[in-house]
Amino acid sequence: KLVARKNNENTIIDLENTKVGEGFFTIIAGPCSVENKEIIEETAHFLSELGIKIMRGGVFKPRTSPYSFQGLGKKGLEYLKLAAEKYNLKIITEALDEDTLKLVNECADIIQIGSRNAQNYGLLRKVGKLNKPVLLKRGFMMTIEEFLYSAEYIAFEGNKNIILCERGIRTFETKTRNTLDISAIPVLKKETHLPIIIDPSHAAGRRDIIPDLIKASLAIGAHGIMVEIHPQPEKALSDGKQSMIFKEFEKTIKEIKELADVL
Ligand code: PEP
Ligand code: MN
Repeated sequence: KLVARKNNENTIIDLENTKVGEGFFTIIAGPCSVENKEIIEETAHFLSELGIKIMRGGVFKPRTSPYSFQGLGKKGLEYLKLAAEKYNLKIITEALDEDTLKLVNECADIIQIGSRNAQNYGLLRKVGKLNKPVLLKRGFMMTIEEFLYSAEYIAFEGNKNIILCERGIRTFETKTRNTLDISAIPVLKKETHLPIIIDPSHAAGRRDIIPDLIKASLAIGAHGIMVEIHPQPEKALSDGKQSMIFKEFEKTIKEIKELADVL
């Protein structure tokens, strides 16, 4: 298999201003959704002050309910791009299907394939034909083996720039939105040469335990984290409960910077 580990060589994703892979701990942060021009600019400014190089922000949102906020679409991509350019940040945003993949590919530096699309093999093949880094989230009902096969679909089509993302799986536990499968990190590091990061936000579903999960991510050997932050989480149009306020996020980042070199 193409994604299987063969020796001790690791894939490093090079994004010009930063890297993702073994030897690095890369921080990606931003709102769940791009909501307007002001908030995304405020977020970009905040991240750049912290030295963070990659900003997230969904514009095509895979919401559980069709009545929930679906994202700003194309307009959101424009806001995201403007904010990122102003503060010299790289962008990651999700593609939902073939149509949105085209639009996302024109704007993003990393294409996100979400949990709900992690076994959409047609879409995986499409993104595999592109020449752009992909962040593949683990489906919330997927085994590690199935996760690796999904990555294999992308690699099989030619695109080897894949970042895996553990974002929690569905279990009987109800205190958290999903159960963060922390064991998946060392298991995946044995089985694949691809970088693997943790999304503590969608795993927890609640902001109070995210600082601890961020520290656990570093301790377990993940190659980074992707965290949802919002200047006013109580007003967020999606995932407010799990979005960290800027001050708390900054505090946690300062704490982990004392423990490791953080990109
Ligand atoms: C997201 O990153 O906003 C998202 C929808 O994540 P997931 O696909 O992991 O649910
Ligand atoms: Mn979200």
